[in-house]
Amino acid sequence: METKVKKINREALCKEDFAEAVKILKQGGLVAFPTETVYGLGGDALDAEAAAKIYSAKGRPLDNPLIVHIADKEDIYQLAKDIPDAARKLADKFWPGPLTIILKKGQLVPNSTTGGLATVAIRMPSDQIAAMLIRESGLYIAAPSANASGRPSTTRAEHVYEDLAGRIPLILDGGPVPIGLESTIVDLSGEHPIILRPGYITLEQLKEILPDVVYDRAVVSRHQDVNIVAKAPGMKYRHYAPKGSITIYEGTEDAVVSAINQQAKEKIEQGYRVAVLSASETSGRYQYGLVKNAGARCKEQQIAANLFEVLREFDEEKIEFIYAESFDTAQLGQAIMNRLLKAAGYHIVRV
Ligand code: AMP
Ligand code: MG
Repeated sequence: METKVKKINREALCKEDFAEAVKILKQGGLVAFPTETVYGLGGDALDAEAAAKIYSAKGRPLDNPLIVHIADKEDIYQLAKDIPDAARKLADKFWPGPLTIILKKGQLVPNSTTGGLATVAIRMPSDQIAAMLIRESGLYIAAPSANASGRPSTTRAEHVYEDLAGRIPLILDGGPVPIGLESTIVDLSGEHPIILRPGYITLEQLKEILPDVVYDRAVVSRHQDVNIVAKAPGMKYRHYAPKGSITIYEGTEDAVVSAINQQAKEKIEQGYRVAVLSASETSGRYQYGLVKNAGARCKEQQIAANLFEVLREFDEEKIEFIYAESFDTAQLGQAIMNRLLKAAGYHIVRV
């Protein structure tokens, strides 16, 4: 299958820009498109065969459910049942935006979209291209991140092409995405609200609406603890991983810089290709390997927006060992570290 890339001008969106994408979606095919978080690989959420195509194009495990994207808050009443007041409150505050809400699944939604779960994940994206695509198609769009399963999520159309060329007919290219990490996921299907995946919307922001919201144990764990079952099935898989192995160093700035310099030097002497993932504040202090600066610690959004792209660059450079600084902070750092820890297979060294 040939994969077409269609550039979309955000400054002047026209219905015509979406005609081909809408036609493909209505026929049960797949289209990749930008959202404010990462690029998504979309298909008709109510069409079990379209969902099957998404799993197959990505090589995604079948028990890893898809997020259903909507263009109107009221659509939750079509897709879910027994909807608590909290859902309405969250939607009013954070939609459209980077928050996914898990609710009890309504009958309309096929099991293949929810990976067989009795719950459904729903999000209303704020990106204008995503919103217009959903509206023009008149469908609910199931869309996981548009990467090959296991690889870093895609933040540019070029990344989608790298991973999925030949597997999907169309990519809408809306340029680089602003946030760069996937949505925060909140589960409202049980007795208490639980954050299953940290994202751009932080715990603190959610607490303003839901004072009793907490992180799932699997989110805050620093180990891949087999006894803690991830409630978001996707979170149990090795994820976001470049081909090289990542080690995260945690400690005082001086200790981290010196440990990484020493480790990088040793590996280079052994003949390996080595890289360092740092913040801009410290990047000048690294002396060995390919040093990639993900952004400034004082602007965490930059680091979030660049993380997946930097991980992909390590693959392009055929890097075998990556030494990363820790980005653990109370706010967006929770989401950044969650992805980095998974990419590193929880390999963290305290110095
Ligand atoms: P992605 O769209 O690639 O960011 O992946 C979607 C994430 O949402 C995965 O981690 C899924 O496990 C999670 N997810 C989707 N639907 C549900 C659900 N019904 N219950 C719990 N987690 C879900
Ligand atoms: Mg994903």
